[in-house]
Amino acid sequence: MINATDVPTVGHWIDGIARASAGGRTAPVFNPATGRITARVALAEGTDIEAAIASAQRGFLQWSGYSMAKRQNVLFAFRELLNARKAELAAIITAEHGKVLSDAMGEILRGQEVVELATGFPHLVKGAYSENVSTGVDVYSLKQPLGVVGIISPFNFPAMVPMWFFPIAIAAGNAVILKPSEKDPSAALWLARLWAEAGLPDGVFTVLQGDKQAVDGLLESPAVKSISFVGSTPIAQYIYETAARNGKRVQALGGAKNHMLVLPDADLDLAADQAVNAGYGAAGERCMAVSVILAVEPVADELIARIATRIGDLRLGDGAGGAEGEPDMGPLITAEHRDRVSSYVDIAEQDGARIVVDGRNRAVEGQEGGFWFGPTLIDDLPTTSRAYQEEIFGPVLQVVRISSFQEGVDLINSGRFGNGTAIFTNDGGAARRFQHEVEVGMIGINVPIPVPVAYHSFGGWKASLFGDAKAYGVHGFDFFTREKAVTSRWLDPATHGGIDLGFPQNS
Ligand code: NAD
Repeated sequence: MINATDVPTVGHWIDGIARASAGGRTAPVFNPATGRITARVALAEGTDIEAAIASAQRGFLQWSGYSMAKRQNVLFAFRELLNARKAELAAIITAEHGKVLSDAMGEILRGQEVVELATGFPHLVKGAYSENVSTGVDVYSLKQPLGVVGIISPFNFPAMVPMWFFPIAIAAGNAVILKPSEKDPSAALWLARLWAEAGLPDGVFTVLQGDKQAVDGLLESPAVKSISFVGSTPIAQYIYETAARNGKRVQALGGAKNHMLVLPDADLDLAADQAVNAGYGAAGERCMAVSVILAVEPVADELIARIATRIGDLRLGDGAGGAEGEPDMGPLITAEHRDRVSSYVDIAEQDGARIVVDGRNRAVEGQEGGFWFGPTLIDDLPTTSRAYQEEIFGPVLQVVRISSFQEGVDLINSGRFGNGTAIFTNDGGAARRFQHEVEVGMIGINVPIPVPVAYHSFGGWKASLFGDAKAYGVHGFDFFTREKAVTSRWLDPATHGGIDLGFPQNS
């Protein structure tokens, strides 16, 4: 951090050093548990953006010339450092995001999985070779890096979401410019320092802090060859359209409204436990959070009763813990976001829903300035309500009572999002039909948050993903490389064919 007068400034990371914005523009960073400003984040403008891109271009020239073995050594060093020091990163995440420490550690471990996958990159960027496709002619393919690539990430996973992309991008030989969320910018800077310690040359991992100006700078620059974005759907769509118009490769992951279908034969204790975990974990600020429970009657009353009992045991508090240990749930990210979440509960109520457990106006003793919102349970929500149709992104579980499996599938498929969904049942046939028929990118069967492992790819359908490539896994390696096909003939003096102007034929 660079010292400012009142609180420290979280700077950019350009050319191996932290620096403030040339123009001095900043935004406040809060600790959501106290509501206090703990830092100011630099906001990039023209000259900062130019400096970041120029440095990344130099970094790319150097890094793409490294052998695979040398690149692999740097990745292994990064993995070792991350594994040894992840507790530092978890504390940074909790202080700026608010999620509880064990959850911050959880996101780091899921990100580390992708680092580990990326250490084996030579296997995944191998080309193919076809010998003697025509007499004396061989064809082979090469997978080469794109150049300077941009990553734009949301506030809710300040370490994991960037790690969905940058280990693979860097392994494949690209230079990365990461534009983290301005709400929790310090994790990115910590990761940049770790890369430097691991031996990554300057310019290969750049952090450009900022807001729309920084994003637009990356979208407009011809030097930036691809954009990987994760955030809300309206911005994802803007990023997709603008980046594509500017000739870039783009993957833009958007918002979600994930449904959990509970069939009458389901284990209701398992379903209630998992609904609480997936609905209220990270205060519902997860794109894979469950936000709607589709309860196939006659189970709704019983399921709601079991969830409500469990909510009674949840403790709200500073995610960093304290004398009483770690709470179950931290605060929301900002006061504005808390008010927005609250307004959706108002809308549900106005539209005739029953508020079973009300998290509005919830306070935490001794921390009155925090952005608190208690776990909320809503029953009988009409599907015509905006509270049902839009993403809330808070600790609000909504129950919709339905009468059949088919009604559940139809509701899921009629929504605009298609990120994740889950079915809870003991009926294998129903689960199999569900996985086949739902128009959603990631499915859980008795698993509430089905985030795929690193070697499978992550991504939704419909308004949850714009573009063709998902994050990480094989899709990640395809996204961060471009293929070249080489057709080669080494002439054998004995069979030299002489001049022939005809179109080349395979023979
Ligand atoms: P956001 O869309 O507000 O911001 C995401 C990024 O875009 C940030 O870096 C932000 O600075 C930038 N940005 C914001 N407004 C912009 C604008 N007008 N022009 C250009 N850039 C802009 O999202 P958020 O609030 O940080 O994150 C929460 C959202 O992200 C939720 O909708 C959540 O579902 C989604 N999300 C999706 C996934 C997924 O995998 N599909 C994962 C995590 C989060």
